[in-house]
Amino acid sequence: MDSKSKVNVLLVDDRPENLLALESILEEMPLNIFKANSGNEALGHLLSNDFALVLMDVQMPDMDGYETAELMRGSERTRAIPIIFVTAISKKEKNIFRGYEAGAVDFLFKPVQPEILVSKVEVFTSLYRQKSIIQKQVADLTDYKERLEEAVAESKQLAREADQANSAKSDFLANMSHEIRTPLNAIIGMAELLGETRLSSEQEQYVRVFNSAGENLLTLINDILDLSKVEAGHIVLEQTEFSLEAVLTSVCDTLSLKAHGKNLELNSRIVPGTIVGRIGDPTRLRQILLNLASNSIKFTSAGEVSMTVSTLSSGMLRFEVSDTGIGIPPDKLDLIFESFEQADSSTTRKFGGTGLGLAISRRLVELMGGRINVESTEGSGSTFSFVIELPVADDYSASVEDKCIEKNLKDLEILIVDDNATNRLIQRETLAGWGIKVTEASDGTTALGILKRRGEIGTQFDLVLLDGLMPGMNGLEVVSKYLSEGATIPSSIMMLTSTMPQGYSSECLRKGVQNCLLKPVRRDDLRKAIEEAISDRSKEVLAEEKHSPAPEEKTERTLIRILAADDSSDNRFLLTAFLKKFPCSLTIVENGQEAVDSFKENEYDIVLMDMQMPVLDGFAAARIIREWEVVNGHDATPILALTAYALPEEIKHCIDAGCDSHISKPVRKKKLIQAIEDFTG
Ligand code: ADP
Repeated sequence: MDSKSKVNVLLVDDRPENLLALESILEEMPLNIFKANSGNEALGHLLSNDFALVLMDVQMPDMDGYETAELMRGSERTRAIPIIFVTAISKKEKNIFRGYEAGAVDFLFKPVQPEILVSKVEVFTSLYRQKSIIQKQVADLTDYKERLEEAVAESKQLAREADQANSAKSDFLANMSHEIRTPLNAIIGMAELLGETRLSSEQEQYVRVFNSAGENLLTLINDILDLSKVEAGHIVLEQTEFSLEAVLTSVCDTLSLKAHGKNLELNSRIVPGTIVGRIGDPTRLRQILLNLASNSIKFTSAGEVSMTVSTLSSGMLRFEVSDTGIGIPPDKLDLIFESFEQADSSTTRKFGGTGLGLAISRRLVELMGGRINVESTEGSGSTFSFVIELPVADDYSASVEDKCIEKNLKDLEILIVDDNATNRLIQRETLAGWGIKVTEASDGTTALGILKRRGEIGTQFDLVLLDGLMPGMNGLEVVSKYLSEGATIPSSIMMLTSTMPQGYSSECLRKGVQNCLLKPVRRDDLRKAIEEAISDRSKEVLAEEKHSPAPEEKTERTLIRILAADDSSDNRFLLTAFLKKFPCSLTIVENGQEAVDSFKENEYDIVLMDMQMPVLDGFAAARIIREWEVVNGHDATPILALTAYALPEEIKHCIDAGCDSHISKPVRKKKLIQAIEDFTG
């Protein structure tokens, strides 16, 4: 309806000539005019049509205007229709009052003045039109609201279904991952064992292929499983106290072989002033940094890969992983964070990978409330960074610096010799943080010059930290040259090297070097080594070690008693083979029930427990063993969970069941033996 739409108006008068007169005045207006000669006829029209206005004579035979109006007010349908009385009666207040009481909204007095009639009809019909428009809008809104409610309900249902589907997908992937890992465990383990036997160089190559294909498959399974978990919202971040330094060190430790294998410098820097004790999820933080740093190593052929953590003025932490690698084309910068996307998507691409690492890292950073960014210049390198908030952990607030100052390292003077500027910066900051006075040299010749001068003026350094691998003159050559010039070693020398070929460290010791440390050096290790070097303890320890008798062969009595449970015959075979030369007595069973039975009847030093087993699974078996120990006053025997499920939630599940630790499949011989030794002392 708009302002020109016709609306219904009812004229009521017992005299036809009056009706005609009114009709002719209103003729030009957009109206449908209905006429009634009596109150009854008027009510008939009112029941079958909607009216914008009624113009009604007051004096009519049978039922006068007031009575008709009162009847109209009594009915729901007609109650709201405005009535204008058209009357010839006197304008006495009493009559007018009666009219209003009967429901009139206005009066017109005969003889009716056309302009007044037209203007009054105009007012009421336009009000009616507006009311109709509003009613229509309200009806439309109600309709929209209902449709919206339906759509919301539908989308909630769809979300529930999607959630269920996602959850089913995650479960499916978790199960698939278990199914794939179990045979993979056997393949990788066997390849490892095969590698330890006498092989021709050709066979060695085959074994290497076995190994690397197995590793690639494993990475792929882990990545897919992880991505699906993040996408399904199944990853809950841990809130635990941890040290940033420990996370960075662990990433460096894991990647140092890879980096040094490519002759790359790998370093991590915690900008001074950054509190290392934090609350958050160290496992996931490590995963992100590991992803970024291993990409950096993969895409860099010369130079360095650096990780840096700094504190912004807002208190947030900024993590940065930068490299001097191939860089990323500008049009690919956004794309690489999507799943399965790589900057080089050609079939001839040189670098392997699945394109999942950055997608997982991005989502994990987002889960931590941050955003991951990349800046890159093709041919010069890339810098990935993210800013997140990790609350300070009170327990960690006593910084390493404080401990060192207590130990009075601050009186020392050290010469750093390293060709890599980032390494020098990190060492300078670390040592300066401990109150040590630092001098730097970027090559052997400069270092020799400085040492000579200091010798002449009698202010020799307390310690020289010498990089083993430098262009021009390497660390050992610096030492040899110094000695050949007839000088004695003026101060303690410590060699920092990224590779330690056989005999290297003894050659260093022979030449008077106090200690050899493998790069990247943990701050804690460096501090301890400096303290030892300064107190000259290292020499004594070395002498003691040289004279100490060879450890006794383990006798039957000292054999570690191991109970292992695994339902896969391949894995049982593998465990037996791994532990063949290890001084232990191994009892191996096929399910959790057998493990529990054997545990109750025999004494064991450690239990290796597969978690998914028929009859009684590892979780239930571990719980029963723990209960049995409590009831029988038995000390807790270490239980190591061996499981294909590698995610933190699953590990927690194992620990909750009573296991002490977890080794994820595929189990590596070295890791297994290390864990057994750790838990059995
Ligand atoms: P993947 O490394 O398995 O291919 P990612 O998701 O980790 O998967 O990385 C996606 C792509 O981003 C890589 O294939 C590579 O093209 C590009 N990329 C990631 N990091 C770097 C880097 N440091 N330097 C150059 N390119 C990189």
